[in-house]
Amino acid sequence: MKLTIHGAARQVTGSMHLLEVGQYKILIDCGLDYEKDRSVQSNENFPFNPGEIDVVVLTHAHIDHSGNLPTLLRLGFNGQILCTPPTADLTELLLLDSVSIFMRKAQTKGKYGKGRGKFNTNSQPLYLQKHVMDTVERFVTIGFNRPFKVNGDIELTFIPVGHLLGAAAAVFKVNDHGIEKSIAFTGDIGRKNYPVLNDPEVLPPVDYLVSESTYGGRFHSKGKSVEETLVEVIEKCCIKEQGRMIIPAFSIGRTQSLVFALNKIFSSGLLPPVKVFVDSPMASMATGIFRKYHSLVNQEAQDFYKNSGDEFEFDNLTYVENLKDSRQVSNYFEPCIIISSAGMLEGGRIQDHLFYNIQNYYCTILFIGYCAKGTLGHRLLRGDSIVHIKDRDLAVYATIKQTDVLSAHGDHEDLMNTVKQQDKALLKSVFLVHGETESMQALADSLDFEGYKTVIPEKGISYEI
Ligand SMILES: [Zn+2]
Repeated sequence: MKLTIHGAARQVTGSMHLLEVGQYKILIDCGLDYEKDRSVQSNENFPFNPGEIDVVVLTHAHIDHSGNLPTLLRLGFNGQILCTPPTADLTELLLLDSVSIFMRKAQTKGKYGKGRGKFNTNSQPLYLQKHVMDTVERFVTIGFNRPFKVNGDIELTFIPVGHLLGAAAAVFKVNDHGIEKSIAFTGDIGRKNYPVLNDPEVLPPVDYLVSESTYGGRFHSKGKSVEETLVEVIEKCCIKEQGRMIIPAFSIGRTQSLVFALNKIFSSGLLPPVKVFVDSPMASMATGIFRKYHSLVNQEAQDFYKNSGDEFEFDNLTYVENLKDSRQVSNYFEPCIIISSAGMLEGGRIQDHLFYNIQNYYCTILFIGYCAKGTLGHRLLRGDSIVHIKDRDLAVYATIKQTDVLSAHGDHEDLMNTVKQQDKALLKSVFLVHGETESMQALADSLDFEGYKTVIPEKGISYEI
């Protein structure tokens, strides 16, 4: 059996791992690499022939795990894509959104249309809607905790890991020329007690573990709950100062958890009603998918539904559908909370809200997620006093705040606990992926100290296991 880490090696994005059992090739995840940008050249150069991959296993829908699947198909992959049912639905939504981003980028540069279908310049889309539809047709969905025979020698089980609706660790049991072996890929690992999502489940004992390491060496703040944190900032901004709060949030996952937390706050009377706008068409569609898979949300959300009704609806909440209504939200002068995407402020309707509010002393921008270097979100968080939005330089008078209570990744302690569920005498190696080098090193140091054998793989190097 051979393992090659082709992506998310010593970096966070672009997850792509190849597991070879004899001649049979399994690709685990096929994500977009943000560090290469989303250009055609940097993402379509696969280090293997896509036509030789027998099957793809997708851990979850996030674009850094799924976003290059249509390219894989476009370049010759002809097999099935195995994932959980919510992952199939959410991935379709995210890939279609990716196409929209490609198109907008192409139109902005004014070049789209010249070489349609040739994919040979930076401004052309990496893939089109038809490639997304081809991808969706390849999905074969498998429920959690149901062993699935990939072929006569390989069995796959998806174990829930929190993080996002449908997210799973992929656990393989393999008969490698008569020798029983096992390997688990964690995908991204979530946190305990996260709004809407179930806690990550314990993985079965395996010989090899390929673990994410995003928050290696970092710890989430402890003490205040999601609700306590939100009550504090909303009370100051929207009630005492009668201002407005803008929360940049990813439309899929983060927005639903935030809406449920706000629903609990307002329905329990912790705060007087404040108008809440969710201004993202994709968030509305994703919320529909969360409703569809209601049996997979956590017990708290299910109990809330039973006792108080839809956890994603409350009296003072409005889902803003069209652009005209979105513009009117910017002119809503009562205190309010605007939840909009994109989470890092790169594009999306939130650009309008920022444009009209960044110079408002009575506006608070509350970041609830990570903002990569180079994004507008990152510039605001580092304290830039002037930012460039919609072709204008604007002074920042709004208050900038950040909280990690809604981070969907487990921290150092959570990652350690996932590995420590395994018997160190039986676990042969832990391969660390999906983290910056320092994060991986911090996690490796702690694991080594506990007596686990760790590997920080280099991209493209194969390991016989
Ligand atoms: Zn993820």
